[in-house]
Amino acid sequence: MNDCLFCKIIKGDIPSTKIYEDEYVYAFADIAPQAPFHAVIVPKIHICCADEINSENSIYIAKIFEAIAKISKKENLENGYRVVNNCGTDGGQTVGHLHFHLLARRYLAWPPG
Ligand code: AMP
Ligand code: ZN
Repeated sequence: MNDCLFCKIIKGDIPSTKIYEDEYVYAFADIAPQAPFHAVIVPKIHICCADEINSENSIYIAKIFEAIAKISKKENLENGYRVVNNCGTDGGQTVGHLHFHLLARRYLAWPPG
């Protein structure tokens, strides 16, 4: 997927501020943070969106949530956090590579609006 922004970030062709990395997952600082702590967490394979998760690729989703628990401990997010996935046009997805936002270090209202 040559013209995918997040595939380019994973490959290192576009710079990012790394927060966490393992065999399955890459996490980096969001360029337009919506909270004092805002990481974008992506699978290291191109999956367009949550709607494309299936039994063959769902290991990446498990690994993403394992990574979130590790990041939380490493970053001392003991007050809690929110994990957000935007899917498709109505969901507000702007980059077509599945990703989860990890937001923390401020109170996050609910419902989000
Ligand atoms: P979404 O709107 O859910 O698709 O989220 C895409 C996110 O990617 C937004 O929060 C953007 O601020 C973020 N983003 C876009 N380009 C970059 C980049 N080059 N580095 C880091 N974050 C980015
Ligand atoms: Zn991609």
